[in-house]
Amino acid sequence: MAYVIVETCTKDNECIEACPVNCIHPTPEEDGYADVPQLYIHPEECIDCGACIPVCPTESIFVLEEVPEQYKDAIARNRAYYGL
Ligand code: SF4
Repeated sequence: MAYVIVETCTKDNECIEACPVNCIHPTPEEDGYADVPQLYIHPEECIDCGACIPVCPTESIFVLEEVPEQYKDAIARNRAYYGL
């Protein structure tokens, strides 16, 4: 299980600061940050702690099994960002 960020993400970056294992990218310091439409969670590095969920101002982060039907494509997009 991992957490997933969906397309309503506005790159607020609160989740990046909250994540204890730094598995949310790109950060503002990383190449490509300005070009991505949203942030992504590394599905194999996420430890399912849930710290990112309450800090997201747009409620764009979901447990994998609870991603709403209309946002299911985000599961593959989060994986694809990391080449998975
Ligand atoms: Fe990071 Fe925890 Fe959110 Fe996973 S659930 S992305 S480890 S803050």
